[in-house]
Amino acid sequence: MTEESVALDAKIPEKNKAIQVLDAQNVKFEHPHPEVYVAKIPIANASWINTTEGTVLIDTLTGPVIAEQMKKKIQETGGPVKTIIYTHHHGDHVGGASVFLDQQPEIIAQRFLLEDFEKYKILREHRARIASVQFNIPYNPDRPRNYVSPTKTFCDTLTFSLGGKTFELYHARAETDDAVWVFVPEIKTVFVGDLIIAGFPNIGNPFKPTRFALPWARALEAVRAKEAEMLIAHGGRAVYQGAEVRELLDVTIEAIYSIHDQVVDGLNKDIPVEEMIHRIKLPDHLQNNKYLQFVYSRPEFAVYNIYRWYHGYYDHNPAHLLPRPDREVNAEIFNIIGSAQTILDRSKALFIQGKAQLALQVLDILFKYDPEHVEARKLHLLILETLCDQDYCLMSRNSWVYAMEKDKKFLESLSI
Ligand SMILES: [Zn+2]
Repeated sequence: MTEESVALDAKIPEKNKAIQVLDAQNVKFEHPHPEVYVAKIPIANASWINTTEGTVLIDTLTGPVIAEQMKKKIQETGGPVKTIIYTHHHGDHVGGASVFLDQQPEIIAQRFLLEDFEKYKILREHRARIASVQFNIPYNPDRPRNYVSPTKTFCDTLTFSLGGKTFELYHARAETDDAVWVFVPEIKTVFVGDLIIAGFPNIGNPFKPTRFALPWARALEAVRAKEAEMLIAHGGRAVYQGAEVRELLDVTIEAIYSIHDQVVDGLNKDIPVEEMIHRIKLPDHLQNNKYLQFVYSRPEFAVYNIYRWYHGYYDHNPAHLLPRPDREVNAEIFNIIGSAQTILDRSKALFIQGKAQLALQVLDILFKYDPEHVEARKLHLLILETLCDQDYCLMSRNSWVYAMEKDKKFLESLSI
C-alpha cells in the first residue's frame, strides 16, 4: 500500500490509529492550466476558473478559516468571485462560502441541496455522532454550521457564460441526490465534485443515506462523452489529464456497473445480503487498479447500499419481520449457553483460527449481555486490533478504532 493510496490525501496511519482527514491547517494549491487553480486539503478540493470578467469558484472547502487561505490565493491570481457553484451539500464542499459574501457572488446549486441542508438541522445530534465515528473527531452537536444557501437553484441543467467562458452545469444522482458536475468547453475541462474521489467510488457509506449506483455510472458516461482533456476531482488527487481522463472514467464506470449488476443478480436469486458482501468482487482485471483502491469506501459497502436501494429491510425470514430487540434475544441465547467462559473460549478459538469477524460475532453474545466482563472486553479489543491492522479504508478503519477506543477507556478505568 503506497502513501498515495491511503484514504484521500491522508498519511498512512500509525498502528491502531484512525485515518485523520479533518485536521488540515494549510491549503495546498495546484495550477494545472493558465486559467484553472485547485485548492487542496486532505478531505476535499475546490477549484476556480478565471475569466476576463471575474472568477467562478467551484466548491469552498470545509470552513471559513481554511477558505480564507483560498480567498487570498484567488485575490492574488484572479477574482473577484462572481459565481460559486456547489457540487453538492457536503460540509467539506460548502463550508467556506461565507468568506466570499463580501463579493456578493451568485451561488448556484441543484435544488435538492436545500432539503439536504435541512437534514443537517433536524439530525444535528445524529450527524454529530456518526461524524465522530467516521472521522474520529469529538462528538459535538453544537459545532457551528454557517452554511450559506444558494441564491439560485436548478433542476436538470443550467448553462451560463462569464468573460468568454461557458459553464455547463449538469445534475447527477451519485454520492448524493444533489450532485452537480461542470463542463467548460473553452478549456475542455470537466469538474466532477465527488463523482471521483481518488479511489473506489463512495457508492456505499455504512453511516449515510443510500447512494445512487446506476445513475452514478450513467452520469460518468455523460462526463466521458464530453471528451475532456482535463478532469478535476474534489476528493483526494485532483487533476487528471490527457489519456488518464478516459482511463479513469472507463474503469470507474465499469466497476460501478459490475458491482451493481452482481447485486441485482443476487437479489433476483434471493441471495441474503450478508452472503452477497462476501461473494461479490470486482472483475479480476480491475482488482488492484490504481484508480479503484479501497481508501474511503469499499465494495462490501457498495453491495449493502445497492441492496438497500432496491430492497427493504425484510429478509424474508419471518423471525425478522417484527423482531424483538437484540438485547432480549441475546439474553435468551446467553442463558441457553449458560456460561460466559464457553462463549469466551469459542470466540478465542475462532480468533486463533484466523476467523476474526466470526470470533467478534460470537463474542458479541457475551459482550452485549455483560459489557463489563473484563476478559470479554480484552478479547474484543484484540479482535478489533486485528481487523483494524492493514485496513486502510477510512470508513471501516475508523469504525474499528472508535470501538477500540471505547474498550481501552473501559479497561483503563479499571486500573484507576
Ligand atoms: Zn461528498
